[in-house]
Amino acid sequence: MLADRRLLLKVITMAPIGAGILGFLAAAFFHWNFLNRTHKPLAIKPPLVEPSTKPSPIVENTIKPLPSAYQSKVFMNVAVPTSQKVVALTFDDGPLGGPTEKILKILKDNNIKATFFLIGRNAQANPQLVKEIFAAGHVIGNHSWTHPYNKHTLAGSQAEIEKTSDVIASIIGVRPNLFRPPGGLMHTGLAEYAKSQKMGIALWSADSIDYRARNSPERLIRNIFREVKPGGIILMHDGGIRRTNTSQALPLLIKQLRAQSYKFVTLPELIAMDTKLPSKHIHIAHNKPKMVTTKTL
Ligand SMILES: [Zn+2]
Repeated sequence: MLADRRLLLKVITMAPIGAGILGFLAAAFFHWNFLNRTHKPLAIKPPLVEPSTKPSPIVENTIKPLPSAYQSKVFMNVAVPTSQKVVALTFDDGPLGGPTEKILKILKDNNIKATFFLIGRNAQANPQLVKEIFAAGHVIGNHSWTHPYNKHTLAGSQAEIEKTSDVIASIIGVRPNLFRPPGGLMHTGLAEYAKSQKMGIALWSADSIDYRARNSPERLIRNIFREVKPGGIILMHDGGIRRTNTSQALPLLIKQLRAQSYKFVTLPELIAMDTKLPSKHIHIAHNKPKMVTTKTL
């Protein structure tokens, strides 16, 4: 009995100590766990952005400022080093469901970036196509709001260009800094206004004449090859009318130009290859661009 009583006493006296030790161990364990959680968050940190099944419509494309030598400059081609066989494909008057989509697909299949001069009201009507053009890495330029050929006042010219840039900027987040006057016409007031805003005025050196719907794809290619040269700017259309000759000619044109070792660049890329940069010398090509008289709208 005495032994039992002693044992009971021992248990009674030891129990709080044991409980204390156990409590300390438990506290240490939870504390360690707590520290562990706060100090090791990187391993279990959730992603900052929720993964989305839809890819972002805008990739890393952006419009970079023009070199100062090209601000307010009118150019039909770019003087590139003679070793560089490069050309820029340009498409005007879009975007238009059908032609623009076909051309985007061909360019994608051939891993080519091009330059699209959009008509403002077409951009407003087809914002998704504008996004697609830009997301694919192509360059977007301004081609006026209504594609006019008649003389405009300063306010009228301003409206044609700024309204277009506003719509484009509302869709892709940046304003174009390249302008192509409708028909290549330099005296309607629009090009003058664009120059006053330091936009580059991009004409062309090789005209496919695809705006004449009766021209066959083969004819378009012949027209281009008659004028193509390194540093050249090729004019085609993805809007205006629902033509098929351009998209039919394009794969063959690409193939034939590649057979002649040509590479395809955007207009800003072509400009960056100008051997005269950073000189402010204004390069004027010998051959003037053809003034388009056929309405493309
Ligand atoms: Zn046009």
